[in-house]
Amino acid sequence: MGQEKLSFAPDPAIRTTVDLRIMETTDLHVHLHPYDYYADCPNPDLGLVRLSELVDQARGEARNTLLFDNGDFLQGTPVGDFFAYDRGFREGDEHPVMAAMNAMRYDAITLGNHEFNYGLDFLMKSLAQAEFPVVSANILTGLGAAPRQDRALVRPYKLLRRHVVDRAGLAQEICIGVIGVAPPQITTWERMHLGGKVFTRDMVDAVAAWVPEMREAGADLVILLAHAGIGALRHSDGMENAVIPLARIEGVDLLLTGHIHQVFPSRAFADIPGVDVENGSICGKPAIMSGFFGSHLGVIDLQMQRDGGEWRVSGFKVENRALRAASMSFGAFGGAGASTGQGEARAVLRSPRVRKIVARAHDMVLENIRQPIGHTETPINSFFVFLGQSASTALVAEAQRDFVAARLAGGAYETLPVLSAVSPAKAGGLGGARNYTNVAKGPLTRRSLADLYTFPNHIAALKLTGAQLRSWLERSASIYNQLHPEQDDGILINPAHPAYNFEMVYGLSYRIDLSQPARYRGDGSVIDPGHSRIRDLHLDGAELEDDAEFIICTNSFRAHGAGGFEGAVSDNLVIEDRAVMRDILHQYVSKRDQLSIDPTTPFRLWMPEPQRAVLRTGPAAFEHLDAIADFAPEVIGVDKAGFMRLRVRL
Ligand code: MN
Ligand code: MG
Repeated sequence: MGQEKLSFAPDPAIRTTVDLRIMETTDLHVHLHPYDYYADCPNPDLGLVRLSELVDQARGEARNTLLFDNGDFLQGTPVGDFFAYDRGFREGDEHPVMAAMNAMRYDAITLGNHEFNYGLDFLMKSLAQAEFPVVSANILTGLGAAPRQDRALVRPYKLLRRHVVDRAGLAQEICIGVIGVAPPQITTWERMHLGGKVFTRDMVDAVAAWVPEMREAGADLVILLAHAGIGALRHSDGMENAVIPLARIEGVDLLLTGHIHQVFPSRAFADIPGVDVENGSICGKPAIMSGFFGSHLGVIDLQMQRDGGEWRVSGFKVENRALRAASMSFGAFGGAGASTGQGEARAVLRSPRVRKIVARAHDMVLENIRQPIGHTETPINSFFVFLGQSASTALVAEAQRDFVAARLAGGAYETLPVLSAVSPAKAGGLGGARNYTNVAKGPLTRRSLADLYTFPNHIAALKLTGAQLRSWLERSASIYNQLHPEQDDGILINPAHPAYNFEMVYGLSYRIDLSQPARYRGDGSVIDPGHSRIRDLHLDGAELEDDAEFIICTNSFRAHGAGGFEGAVSDNLVIEDRAVMRDILHQYVSKRDQLSIDPTTPFRLWMPEPQRAVLRTGPAAFEHLDAIADFAPEVIGVDKAGFMRLRVRL
């Protein structure tokens, strides 16, 4: 927009209406090619390459458009790891995410928390390649007395002066202010990379301080790129999912959101005061969240009216366009798409231009992840982790323990028992029915390891007490729904609890009593401190003492407090190492000719009487049902989201 020569309206005070289309991508996590690198097969429902065709199409339908990304673009998939760890930046190298975004002519982007996973140097080298502004108002290199005295890492906001065409076909000028924020927790989660270098400020405080300046500088419209989710109504200092309080800030006109990997508007956010899931607004302002991994393109159509020299938003329509829907309408049944734009999906699916730009990166990554590094006698998967069978977590636990024990040898902590805490990296949830680790027995490749452990975490170890450990286990055990003996076929897992907070502590043995109510909610807050599910908690056959001390192998993310596990504070850190889990696993596997893994988890589920319950798992689990023969599994169908429903006997 604004390239061609246009005749300008004679008088800026004259009343006019402009249609402005605002597009969002968010939480791409390096999903470029429509490819599942963990399974080494195409996945047409994801990725920026195909999304680029939806963008082209959406641009073709509208006169005036702007495209933004909302953060978490640099980490995720083996492509991200390959560029950060294996290849680095070589002379002339362009990061494929930046190359694709440049080709797609983004208007501005903001940073998410995952941008910091590979360290500041890698991030800044990547951003240096961006041909568009990068904004973030609360990620700082110097914290001032007030937000406007802060020194920001990238610019806090940018004013985009654009020529647009109004409904009468006349050119008009409009100034669009774009400001971004991300969770201030970044400095905790990434303390190892950012300690002493990067500081953060509360998102609401930062936006409230900068927006008046943007207005004074001439912004006719203020767009907030909030790498944050829709959470609590009330503002609390430093809150993570601050979208509702952010929407209340005067002068913010429109919000692009993300971080929690969901879709807005959708029924998932129904019944929240101020949140309109029919029209897609929060506190009356248009808002959108466009899924994750390039699953959706967010489209907000704004009507802007200028009256007496002032622009205001006079109407809006909010819509998410799913790649999945575009693929379906492309199928054998022709192009009968259900909603706007999808009828043309036929043209959408080749994406030759952006595909070509990232093709070399795709090929290099495939070659890298297909390299053989070892061998396993045991299939390694996470389908039945919630039943207590999971070779994937067992292998990670043992690799962590091996590394930490070697580091502690001969030191002050040598005599303490070394336990290993692991949560499943892939276990269904919002990631969907394919989101399980699934490595066949036989040769192991780098891809197999990437499938086991998807996070770019560093190894760490904490010193904890027995009482703290017990609370970790209660927190984790709260992922199960309470089962009632008189009521068969209860659903086993409560989807409000993310699997990455289901920490199993290897080295202990314990039972989880599912007849008891949960102690914690999904967000980590306590329901009732008297609720208890953990029984028979033993170490080497003896009851675990509350005041005994242990070394717990974990990762930097958890050790610095992610998820709010008790005792996970810097004071209790005994090891924090630059080594990333991916490399620790690689070393562990390549040192051994043949892996034979006991998939038994440290816990057993327990009910006072035999009980039937329903586990949702990936359909690919079907081939492995013999692994849970003790539970007498019965397939009872596949649900709408594609999960296989298994009836099991506890
Ligand atoms: Mn994300
Ligand atoms: Mg995020």
